[in-house]
Amino acid sequence: MAKVHFVGAGPGDPKLITLQGYQLLQEAGVVIYAGSLVNPELLNYCGTDCQIFNSASMDLWEIIDEMEKGVKAGKEVVRLQTGDFSIYGSIREQVEELRKRQIEFTCTPGVSSFLGAASSLGVEYTVPEVSQSVVITRMAGRTPVPAKESIRSFAQHQTSMVIFLSVQSIKEVVRELLAGGYQPTTPIAVVYKATWPEEKKIISTLANIVDEIKATDITKTALIMVGDFLGDEFHYSKLYDATFPHEYRDAKIEE
Ligand code: SAH
Repeated sequence: MAKVHFVGAGPGDPKLITLQGYQLLQEAGVVIYAGSLVNPELLNYCGTDCQIFNSASMDLWEIIDEMEKGVKAGKEVVRLQTGDFSIYGSIREQVEELRKRQIEFTCTPGVSSFLGAASSLGVEYTVPEVSQSVVITRMAGRTPVPAKESIRSFAQHQTSMVIFLSVQSIKEVVRELLAGGYQPTTPIAVVYKATWPEEKKIISTLANIVDEIKATDITKTALIMVGDFLGDEFHYSKLYDATFPHEYRDAKIEE
């Protein structure tokens, strides 16, 4: 029996889909893609008789009905979602509906935009002795955020943070970050359309970012990255330290 395949499309650059995702697109009889964010160039990987739906204008039931129709007609159905579907991907509800209808599915991960954005900046979220954790969060919008997960409360940790879906509220984001304890001098970056040709990167401080964003036309499809991992302080890792022996290597230099 044919199946539904959830495939992470990656952040934008059509080469950043996995080989498995690419093969599934080549074999698909039906593709339902998230048109608001998935790069349509990825659809060039599909066969000529592949049926293509843009989910931007569809509701959950229309999506599930098309999946069921495709699978029942013996077609492999690809649900192509932006970045990786495990981050703000609305995959849970789709999976539950498929289970109810006894439709089998597979999942192929993708490169999330927070990874694409780190690549674009050439940065590491987990710089030794600066930050060893990454908080992925968002401001509450039409989708509420549980009160215990406020940006202000996460800001108390002053670790690396990536804030999705919130650039339109950059002023409030900055207010909450400062209220939580980040210093006005803390570095912050906004990356718009990471890995797309029209990508924009703005690196600033909490004190200045609001004005800098105001001066652009960025209102969506951007990530806010904040924390000292973007700053000047860093330490060499133990893993590649020549004086530090570990399971795969003896110490080469005496301390
Ligand atoms: N599942 C996706 C996120 C979907 S939520 C992922 O893993 O990336 C949509 C939000 O993701 C956007 O509002 C924006 O904050 C972010 N986003 C998606 N693609 C992006 C890109 N190429 N560059 C910057 N931000 C992006």
